[in-house]
Amino acid sequence: MTTPTHCPYCALQCGTAVAPSGEVTPRQFPTNRGGLCQKGWTAGSLLGHPERLTTPLLRPARAAPLGPVSWDAALGHVAQQLVRLRATHGPDSVAVFGGGGLTNEKSYLLGKFARVALGTSQIDYNGRFCMSSAAVAGNRAFGIDRGLSFPVTDLDDAEVVLLAGANVAETMPPLLGHLGGAQLVVVDPRRTPTAERAIASGGLHLQPVPGTDLVLALGMLHAAVADGRLDTDYLTARTSGLEETWRVAARWWPERAERVCGVAAADMRAAVGLLAGAQRRYVLTARGAEQHAHGVDTVTAWINLSLALGLPGRPGSGFGTITGQGNGQGGREHGQKADQLPGYRRIDDPASRAHIASVWGVDAAALPGPGRSATELLDALGRPGGPRALLVFGSNPLVSAPDATAVAQRLAALELLVVADFLPGETALAADVVLPVAQWAEEEGTLTNLEGRVLRRRRALDPPPGVRTDLEVISGLARRLGASGFPAEPERVFDELRAASAGGPADYAGISYARLDAGEALHWPCPGPDHPGTPRMFLSRFAHSDGRARLVPVDPPAAAEPPDAEFPLRATTGRVLVHYQSGVQTRRIDELAAIVPESFVEVHPDTAARAGLADGEWARVVSRRGSVLARVRCVPSLRIDTVFLPFHFGGEQTANRVTNPALDPLSRMPEFKVAAVQLIPTREC
Ligand code: SF4
Repeated sequence: MTTPTHCPYCALQCGTAVAPSGEVTPRQFPTNRGGLCQKGWTAGSLLGHPERLTTPLLRPARAAPLGPVSWDAALGHVAQQLVRLRATHGPDSVAVFGGGGLTNEKSYLLGKFARVALGTSQIDYNGRFCMSSAAVAGNRAFGIDRGLSFPVTDLDDAEVVLLAGANVAETMPPLLGHLGGAQLVVVDPRRTPTAERAIASGGLHLQPVPGTDLVLALGMLHAAVADGRLDTDYLTARTSGLEETWRVAARWWPERAERVCGVAAADMRAAVGLLAGAQRRYVLTARGAEQHAHGVDTVTAWINLSLALGLPGRPGSGFGTITGQGNGQGGREHGQKADQLPGYRRIDDPASRAHIASVWGVDAAALPGPGRSATELLDALGRPGGPRALLVFGSNPLVSAPDATAVAQRLAALELLVVADFLPGETALAADVVLPVAQWAEEEGTLTNLEGRVLRRRRALDPPPGVRTDLEVISGLARRLGASGFPAEPERVFDELRAASAGGPADYAGISYARLDAGEALHWPCPGPDHPGTPRMFLSRFAHSDGRARLVPVDPPAAAEPPDAEFPLRATTGRVLVHYQSGVQTRRIDELAAIVPESFVEVHPDTAARAGLADGEWARVVSRRGSVLARVRCVPSLRIDTVFLPFHFGGEQTANRVTNPALDPLSRMPEFKVAAVQLIPTREC
């Protein structure tokens, strides 16, 4: 007897079945249709992994090693320290860091715990590093942020799909099954497997200089206007802002854009011609467009192009952002973001505060205001006026945050670091208290996939003895802090989440465990128990009060860190097929680690030769902030000015040691995709 559930990793949330032995097999589900990638096939390996954390650990003094203690001792110590810090330094001396892989229930209860039990404004999560710029761009253009405003099965009939900074062949391979009939246009500085697929489909691979995709999109918008490709009826009926947007785009004719982004003007025109000439076409963006200090404007530039061509809200066509983490969509809707309350409400909106306060049974005036974003929160740790304690759930910021060396210094400056995890990841090993928690197949909950579809994750196995769920940990800590209203039962938490979300942009009021267990496909917004959910949005109107989508003028910014004589190369970071996020899980799965056991740096052979390096040798990739150890892979298709690092590895191989913590002014997204670096040969390893 197997239990139907979903893969623990990415936002495609492939349907799986878990056997009593823990073996994972695929099942039929619309996103994966019986397929899985290597990560999904091997997900059961971690359930009984020998490194599994099964007892709380406590470091009695800073220099002392972690040692096993009882749950009572661990939670008692944490509560005592939190009470002391709050009494001495105020509620904002305690901070919380969440994750985009946490279930909806955990995301919700963690946000409530921070604001009610701790009374702190200092909560944010690793989704800030993931999709925050796409979220701001989506809200700005459409009045609401849902990754895809249509089911992925709509892509089955696409004729042309433009993928901007999306390497789906490696990050979510089953998605390619929905793109099989389409010509692809792939925008990526690397010749990824997805780019190869584009070429094989008769489409195009556009290979811009890292950090210049915004200019490329402007050049393509210019080409659309100049070549008479605008959908003027659609623009007139359903949008505003074309005139102001054109005032900027007019300066970026394709030949001028080519000089900046390196993509041939003829290829820009050809790509626009492919999109404009098809009936069913989509523009999809992902981390390559988003993870910039100008990520909001870059995503906006792609939205502007898709609006100019009349795609969003048209049956058989559309614009979407491909969410990354398993609950990347739900994780940003329920209140673990520094600036949001449940239901995707703004924390600075009086009506939203009043509604949430009434659900929580507290005074709206007592709810904290917006706190620091993830990068700013990590940077403030242990500084005067900054948090002195940090509680981490579902995240490994020592590997996933930018400028990782500085993050390590800030964590070391804390008086208390508490990490809830099921494996000893890098951040857990640096903690003062480690709380061993259940993982995906050992607990109930819901997630919201890249389509805005809410899914049931089911308990297939008992957790190991000594392990608690995150909800039990949050509930237990709240009780020790004297707070009530923190149930540990997932369905009770979900029912409260539904009430909190009611009337908000992400309305879950009509979604229940009973309806999901009955097999209903429910996409938010779903405002009532008889509502069928909303698989397709924007068909008649966008979410702005006038029903129109906004084209927004965006200007290319100055590069956050341009290459120079000392650091002449652009390092860009990304993902590989067999590893997930900071790699804590997939690095421990033998079949996956055997395929990519260590970090590497992709380099053009000429660039490697100039640095005195050959394929297979170890190199240091050095930026102004630190260095990464990586094995050289010579890749002739890479730009000679670019190197690529996967970000899945820790220690000396942490790619984020070189990345730039410069932030997008609107979303606070860090500059993960461009850092000025040099390559140095090394005899290490
Ligand atoms: Fe599917 Fe993503 Fe899991 Fe791979 S990692 S099996 S694509 S959900």
